[in-house]
Amino acid sequence: MSDSSRPNLWRRLPLWQKILGGLALGILAGALMGKDASAFKPLGDIFINAIKMLIVPLVFSTLVVGITSMRDPQKMGRIGGKTIALYLLTTAFAITIGMLASSIFQPGAGVDFSFEKGMDAKEAPSLVQILVDLVPRNPIDALANGNIMQIIVFAIGIGISLIMIGDKGEPVVRVFDSFAEVMYKLTEFVMAFAPFGVFGLMAHVSGNYGMDVLLPLAKVIGVAYLASILHVLVVYSGLLALLGKLNPVRYLRGILDALVVAFSSASSSGTLPISIRCARKNLGVSEGVSGFVLPVGATINMDGTAIYQGVVALFIAQLTGIELSMMDYGMIVLTGTLASIGTAGVPGAGLIMLSIVLSQVGLPLEAIAVIAGIDRILDMARTTVNVAGDLMVTTLVGKSEKELDFEIYNAPHKQ
Ligand code: ASP
Repeated sequence: MSDSSRPNLWRRLPLWQKILGGLALGILAGALMGKDASAFKPLGDIFINAIKMLIVPLVFSTLVVGITSMRDPQKMGRIGGKTIALYLLTTAFAITIGMLASSIFQPGAGVDFSFEKGMDAKEAPSLVQILVDLVPRNPIDALANGNIMQIIVFAIGIGISLIMIGDKGEPVVRVFDSFAEVMYKLTEFVMAFAPFGVFGLMAHVSGNYGMDVLLPLAKVIGVAYLASILHVLVVYSGLLALLGKLNPVRYLRGILDALVVAFSSASSSGTLPISIRCARKNLGVSEGVSGFVLPVGATINMDGTAIYQGVVALFIAQLTGIELSMMDYGMIVLTGTLASIGTAGVPGAGLIMLSIVLSQVGLPLEAIAVIAGIDRILDMARTTVNVAGDLMVTTLVGKSEKELDFEIYNAPHKQ
């Protein structure tokens, strides 16, 4: 193309606008075509497969590069400490906001549902088992199965060992470095397809969840969405402004791509490649910090899931007329926080973990059946918050480690 020829409209539109366009058109197609809109689902499946293709090699190489670029295990420990503390803090806020919203708006009052008895809630793993399973018995197996937590543990081990052996590790460091660059490029290619993928996913969801599925439970959906939006706008923006002295609008603007992909895919692990890209390109967080904080967040930081546990637990208590004591509320905060940590970043995982919270406070597990019908709609909101939370903590940690490029963060135009 010669310099004088103007690129066509498609090329001129920034990616985030194309993705939002795909989202809106997808919803429209679903509304007009109903279940027939599922014909577009393969577009979404291709997109999701392509992102999944990126996850293991991208996470593994960026983690190793991130750790070796810190050159100092102590610094890693410090970043790890800050990361975990912020993740826990925001999650406890999240579940409290969820419970408050449910207490105020009482979404379960006056709703009449008979439970399908005998629905077997899937067995949730015990917390000790979650800890034991962090260590991979076979790293190749962990890589092959995409077990992110085990991959993180293995990559941290490799990264620290590389730092310890100094010059001898240089060739391997360079290989990982170059491989991570390759994966960033591949992420760009996959993102170019995002508008079509998001269109396909949304057409399917909107075509299959018509008003007849949504209306009876509209109130609990509304409360969950409201609590989610409040959490992002108040807690995340507040923490960024207060602790980071950063403009939250720039953060929200910079993470839009990741939010739309999270919303339409309902998978925070699946969104990880996009989150890493947003953190580096739009928020200006260093490779070292984003490569470490984001994969950890995508596995353990689930604020949206915590909000959901709080909203739904109280909703079920209201539905069944079970009175909860102060002790029960405390128990919901504790188990909800732990359950959210154990939730995998894949669609529907939060619904399974809900059984931990419900059984701790003696609420009927059969009530999960009521929620299951609309879980995808709730999942989209909670995944979006999960991803927003990871990116907020990444920004704060980057800022506190002086690994945030203000020029990129404050740039009005994001890619
Ligand atoms: N789908 C959520 C996520 O990927 C997890 C959940 O189901 O709560 O973040």
